[in-house]
Amino acid sequence: MDSELSRVVDAIPGLVWTAPPDGHIDFLNHRWCEYTNLGLGESYGRGWQRVVHPEDLSGLLERWRSILASGRAGEMEARLRRFDGEYRWFLFRASPMADASGHVVKWCGTSTDIEDRKRVEEALSAPWWLQPSAREQHFRSVADNIEALGALVTPAGQVELVNRQALEYFGVTLEELRGRAIADIVHPDDVPPVRAAWRQAVEAGRPYDVEERLRRADGVYRWFHTHGFPLRDTQGHILLWYLIKRDVDDLKRGETLLAGEKRLLEMVAGCHSMSEILEAICRLVESTASGCYCSVVLIDPSGMRVEHGAAPSLPASYMSACIGRPVNIDAGPCGMAAYLNEQVIAADLTTDIRWAEWRPMALAHGLQSCWSTPITSAAGKVLGSFALYSNQPRAPTALHKSLIEQFTHIARIAIERRLSEETLSKVRSELAHVARVQSLGVLTASIAHEVNQPLAGIITNASTCLRMLAADPPNIDGARETARRTIRDGNRASEVIARLRALFSKKDATAESVNLNGATQEVIALSLSELQRARVSVRTQLADDLPPVKGDRVQLQQVILNLILNGSDAMRRVNDRSRKLLIRTERDGRDHVRLTVQDTGIGFDLQKQDKLFEPFFSTKSGGMGIGLSVSRSIIASHGGRIWATQNDGPGATFGFSIPCRWECSRGSDALEPIQTPAVTIGMHVMTSV
Ligand code: ADP
Repeated sequence: MDSELSRVVDAIPGLVWTAPPDGHIDFLNHRWCEYTNLGLGESYGRGWQRVVHPEDLSGLLERWRSILASGRAGEMEARLRRFDGEYRWFLFRASPMADASGHVVKWCGTSTDIEDRKRVEEALSAPWWLQPSAREQHFRSVADNIEALGALVTPAGQVELVNRQALEYFGVTLEELRGRAIADIVHPDDVPPVRAAWRQAVEAGRPYDVEERLRRADGVYRWFHTHGFPLRDTQGHILLWYLIKRDVDDLKRGETLLAGEKRLLEMVAGCHSMSEILEAICRLVESTASGCYCSVVLIDPSGMRVEHGAAPSLPASYMSACIGRPVNIDAGPCGMAAYLNEQVIAADLTTDIRWAEWRPMALAHGLQSCWSTPITSAAGKVLGSFALYSNQPRAPTALHKSLIEQFTHIARIAIERRLSEETLSKVRSELAHVARVQSLGVLTASIAHEVNQPLAGIITNASTCLRMLAADPPNIDGARETARRTIRDGNRASEVIARLRALFSKKDATAESVNLNGATQEVIALSLSELQRARVSVRTQLADDLPPVKGDRVQLQQVILNLILNGSDAMRRVNDRSRKLLIRTERDGRDHVRLTVQDTGIGFDLQKQDKLFEPFFSTKSGGMGIGLSVSRSIIASHGGRIWATQNDGPGATFGFSIPCRWECSRGSDALEPIQTPAVTIGMHVMTSV
């Protein structure tokens, strides 16, 4: 290069170089030597590579090779070590010089310092949290406009920034918040799980979710869902955590209430008593509306006075003073609400001038406010009052109002159900009676026969007795014996009548310890003549280890009688095989007993299997179709189930299973098993009459 050109090249504010087509540097300008502190000799060939940043060298060479191969101009970036050891970014530009035939004969290149541009670019493209000066502004522009509490926290747990909403919620300044311990803002019960979740997230460097109760400025704790995610530096180390805390208190409360409401409705549908349900309602409301006491009073059947419903947390002396008070506007808020059929709010009993007698009594029990709401049936009849009390003067909030509305409704269902239950059980008992009277009709011949036999015996024996006394000499011993037989037959007749009266009289259900084997044998005895007439042979297999059941003996006998008579009916038109009934009792699992009646009759249509137990389903010309439906409701009221199956061979088997102890009853846990002889197999072979 001539000296004039060399001067120009050295004056260019950049590094200038050339290379032959193989890419090995064969010229560098003076500035190169100044910048790198390398002599030209040590820089030519591959020498220059020693000042390229080791991390950038392979990328640079690869790029350089591809530029050489393409034969076209190109650019590369890499860091070059300055004389003082500092690396700075350079942009390498290479352009080919071609001869007349188009072959590259030389490469010319420049390398310009782009360190400052790179810095600016990096600063501009780097995430906002890497720029301390811009951090707060960025954070606020977003976090102050969300419906959540937001915070930037260091991995050590130190609060760096929080949004406006967080300061308002906690009622503190940022400095004050920084000075607070976790236990000052998080509910004590939630501190350990929150700490554990935080530790885990920090260790694993993964986002985390936790639910916690945070203490509001006024001391009230509310549920929050906290989502935390890490903000990393360019090396991937966690610099900060971004926490977003969403208030889920209403949601949580809603979920708890919903679960509680579901439990209550299950109680209503199950076999819980009304007072148990009303008590559960009160407890649920009290746990939701903190600081409130809840009561339910009912209106007595006369409609004149209030009766006890439930008040699990109110003082007993207060409730007993309320019960029996008249339903009018003077007696107290509950009587007044029921009387007017409208809500009565007494927000401050210290100043309320109503209820001259009741008010001092309530105040003496520490009650300062009472909001009472009538409980009204679907038909508009007032059933009682639902009240919330507080030991402070208070008016209901929106939450209280919705709780009152929701739970007055459930209380209504519970109370109405008990009424809509009482009517049902009346109807059920009417139907049961009809079913029994129907059986009575069927059994008339059988009963007549049962009673007739001892009567005939009585007449025969009495005549014999007379004859023996009239003999000469009178046969006193013979007369005494026949008189004894007369008495025996008389007793037999009266026993039959007593059994009949028990079975066919109309009386309320009782719960007693019943020996199912004995009850079954009595029913068989009563229906024996009818079965004989129908040419049915009866066999029994009664288990000897059968524990007693708790229930209504007569009702259970009615079910057994119904199954026996149905079995006999099903065999009425069977003439090509013997008509057989097998009546069996046995244990069913640990705590149930089962009774089955198997016949060899015509069976039933499997498609109608579900219908058999429905009221008024009958396939018989004179049938009423209530026997099985009544049986089902009797068995259900004993906490059991009833079913029908087709036999493998001809006929069907009907059976029921009931608990040894009546599940819904209380205090009856200690029933002793009744000892009966080892499996009793009875055979009653009937001959046609
Ligand atoms: P009813 O005897 O008045 O018809 P039930 O309720 O006792 O009323 O029985 C309903 C129906 O169930 C009967 O009409 C009959 O179709 C069927 N059923 C009952 N028991 C049997 C049985 N052992 N075999 C076949 N079908 C039966």
